[in-house]
Amino acid sequence: MGGAATSDGGSAIAQVVVARRGQIFIRVGVCLVIALVFQMLTGILPAAAWAATYTALQAVEYKIFQRVTETSPFSPRGRIGFLAMMVTSNLAFAFFGLMVSRGAGAWGVVCAGLLWSGAIFNGAIVSGESRLALTASIVPPLLYFSSVPYFVIENGGAFSAGIAIVLAGLINGAAAIAIWSAGRKLTEGIARERENSRLALLDPETDLPNRYALERDIADRPSADRHNSIVVAAISIDRFQYLRGAIGHALMLDVIREVAARLGTHEGALLVRLSTDTLGVRFNQCEMAQAHRAVTSLHFALTSPVSLREHKVDIRATIGLSETADAIESTTEVSIIDRAMIAVEQARAANKPIGRFDSALYGDPASNLSLMSEMERAFENGQMSLSYQPEYDLRSARTVGIEALIRWTHPERGPLGPDLFVVMAEETGYIAMLTDWVLRHAIEDQRRLRAAGHDLRISVNWSGRLIDDEAFTDKALALVAQASGKICIEVTETAVIGNPRLARRTLDRFRAAGVAISIDDYGSGLSSLAYLRKIPADELKVDRVFVMNMAIDPIDALLVRAAVTLAHSLELRVVAEGVEDGGAFELLHAMGCDLVQGYFIARPMPLAELVVFLARGERVAAQKLVS
Ligand code: C2E
Ligand code: CA
Ligand code: CA
Repeated sequence: MGGAATSDGGSAIAQVVVARRGQIFIRVGVCLVIALVFQMLTGILPAAAWAATYTALQAVEYKIFQRVTETSPFSPRGRIGFLAMMVTSNLAFAFFGLMVSRGAGAWGVVCAGLLWSGAIFNGAIVSGESRLALTASIVPPLLYFSSVPYFVIENGGAFSAGIAIVLAGLINGAAAIAIWSAGRKLTEGIARERENSRLALLDPETDLPNRYALERDIADRPSADRHNSIVVAAISIDRFQYLRGAIGHALMLDVIREVAARLGTHEGALLVRLSTDTLGVRFNQCEMAQAHRAVTSLHFALTSPVSLREHKVDIRATIGLSETADAIESTTEVSIIDRAMIAVEQARAANKPIGRFDSALYGDPASNLSLMSEMERAFENGQMSLSYQPEYDLRSARTVGIEALIRWTHPERGPLGPDLFVVMAEETGYIAMLTDWVLRHAIEDQRRLRAAGHDLRISVNWSGRLIDDEAFTDKALALVAQASGKICIEVTETAVIGNPRLARRTLDRFRAAGVAISIDDYGSGLSSLAYLRKIPADELKVDRVFVMNMAIDPIDALLVRAAVTLAHSLELRVVAEGVEDGGAFELLHAMGCDLVQGYFIARPMPLAELVVFLARGERVAAQKLVS
């Protein structure tokens, strides 16, 4: 784009010409009136000649500039043509004025004066912002205007009257220039405003429309449309922050642009950038099933690696879909765009590449509220339980620890995933109660396991919300003091980043009490080495998203290897969670990873099953390692 608006640019003239089309009828009308006056003053022939010349010039001018619009402005040749046209047209005006004043006495002088001032104003108006066009259009009539005193005197008028007319001409010219510059300022202002609103709707990094543009697009739709046929897809690049940390922001922008290019254009669809790592597509006149098909092929289009300079990067994306009918009753509006973005999170949680917004899973706040009020009773009514997932030591080929994962079997809604209610508990302040319950039961179960001959470390997930709760820390430490074995708490890096000083204090207290600290979901946040060093930890738990596909995705394997090396250099034990297949298992073993956890070893299970597993399953796992 750029600031062409202030130069003698074609587009400025073009705007005027566009306005001119509306004037053409007025002009032809005025031309007829003037021709009539001419006819009275100079006779039919000069009047006809004037009218013919004027009309022809107007017609040619109109024809030439008919195609010029704001978006397809003048070519350089067109601009010269336009200026030539202005000069000719105004010369013709002035020349006829001269004829009139010569031949028609005092009235003719007045008529000519009118004609010339008309020409001057005409010039000021049609030249738009172009200084050159202004000069070309007002100089000829001004020159002729200055010859008026001669005719006045020749027709018997006073010299002073002649001077007055010259002055009038000059004032006229000055007024025209004033109008011209005011008009120019106005159009500049409009152009700037237009540019600003264009920028407000664009993502500056990619030049794609932004979220606001999509919101406007949706809001501007006729309401019938709004209620029938919009589907919004949010396409979120997986592991964005991690990749950005690895390859840098500039290359990551190239990735976004490449993904946008692959998404291509769909009939009537609008492609926008919704947030740093998420693109959006609004499908028009589209059923959910159609949109689902379309995004499935989009997802497929994203599977081939992106070439960045000499590197190839595997890009994966999670796509969330929502349609107008998904609208949920809620006090705070959840727009279709938000729902598509929530659908991305839901799909990720369910490990699916594409997901539709699930209002039951998201829950309307009303039922979540009742769920919250039920939570307290759920603990007492035995609806809550713990599942344990083994952590398997690759060196000793034994299960050395277990992670406690909470389960809620709701009498009406069935089993509820911790991904739904743990977050709710965090939001509503129940998290302390929940964690207290988990810790008590884990310690109890640890004692039972010990009685059955299994001495296992138990890991409990520690919400970020609890890190700065000193009273709760006191309570937890009192409980831990009674444990029969080793306890570990898992905190995410992001929880610690939020409040590093308090977090450090809490974690130091736990460590002093012999509790191990594990940095959970490592890789999903973005910690620098310097930062990690500050967290007093014993263990690094690599996020399952990197581990799950490491056997088939070399970049994931690379990232996990880097995490293992990093952890060891910080003297941390490494756990890889989400080990789903033998390939990953072998790789991790070869990398020197310490512990593995995942479906390949065992799914989370109730205590009774765990006891059976420990007696039997462990041998199977050990054989896996040997073979
Ligand atoms: P997390 O701490 O990352 O827990 C590991 C999750 O990965 C568990 O999901 C587990 O079932 C799943 N997982 C384990 N192995 C595999 C595998 O091989 N493949 C795949 N695809 N998944 C695997 P779960 O039990 O649904 O828990 C989800 C999250 O809920 C946990 O993530 C944790 O953040 C939270 N959570 C669970 N229990 C508690 C709790 O008692 N307190 C708190 N604060 N959060 C909890
Ligand atoms: Ca965990
Ligand atoms: Ca985890």
